[in-house]
Amino acid sequence: MMRCSTCDDEAIIFLHYANKHLCARHFIRMFEKRFRSTVREFGMLKKGERVAVGLSGGKDSTVLLHCLNDLKKDLPFELVAITIDEGISGYRAATLKIAKKEAKALGIEHHIVSFKKELGKTLDSILKTDRSRACSYCGVLRRGLLNRKARELKADKLAIGHNLDDIAQTVLMNIIRGEPSRSKRLLEPVTKNDAFIPRIRPLLRAPEKEVAIYAMVRDIGIDHRECPYAESALRQDIRRHLNELEEIHPGTKFKILSSFLQMKDEGRDSGGRGSESKTQDPRLETCIGCGEPCSGKRCKFCEMSNTI
Ligand code: SF4
Repeated sequence: MMRCSTCDDEAIIFLHYANKHLCARHFIRMFEKRFRSTVREFGMLKKGERVAVGLSGGKDSTVLLHCLNDLKKDLPFELVAITIDEGISGYRAATLKIAKKEAKALGIEHHIVSFKKELGKTLDSILKTDRSRACSYCGVLRRGLLNRKARELKADKLAIGHNLDDIAQTVLMNIIRGEPSRSKRLLEPVTKNDAFIPRIRPLLRAPEKEVAIYAMVRDIGIDHRECPYAESALRQDIRRHLNELEEIHPGTKFKILSSFLQMKDEGRDSGGRGSESKTQDPRLETCIGCGEPCSGKRCKFCEMSNTI
């Protein structure tokens, strides 16, 4: 049996990148301290703001909901939750049930937005003939509906449960696809278009494995089912290789994140990390089709919803 490096109790996890064993109590303490310092470092939240959490009912967003709810005790702000029901049979019903249960248990206002009601079709029926671009369709439509609902609820911020693994994978994917500038939007609060609710990612320093262990230790209900459409082949390959690299070179994922942050900081004129870059902020236009924020003339949401 391994012992906690801090108190000598039984260890439940070994953090390779820090060469430390931690017991349940010290693991929770470390996880929550890191969560709070990330929120502070990036200026993600202000007292009195209204924050909408994108709550899928998966482990990341459910842990995010709990951590934000705990943070409310020290930094008063309002919390609401939004779940998008894409209509994925054999998958979404289970996570939807968890989302409802967790929001209710914490007394958090919860809204469910469905593809079927908003777009007239479920994701299953949109993809009937071609599953190959499932995540592209789903991602664009889900992000669009989340932004609309968050704005309708008068949210100041939209909190997303992306963890360290998601961020490291996305940064590498954007480089491999030759679109490195897409990563800018991962962390920069875009404020050039009032219709866009700035997104925050308070779990960005939490490795996926630690999010799962935190959920288990705190007895937060999670469902281990995978979406049947899975992710793109490229993301799955990067995920596998990154996990292998992390095994051989502990701390790889953290280093990708810090390299990305360093590159973003270069060229920043002034202010802290949460402040806007004067030279590189991704300006948003207004879609001529629906009036939503977008980077071109017509948003991807309109392009896609016209073809389904
Ligand atoms: Fe949507 Fe792809 Fe995520 Fe499934 S894996 S919920 S299709 S983005």
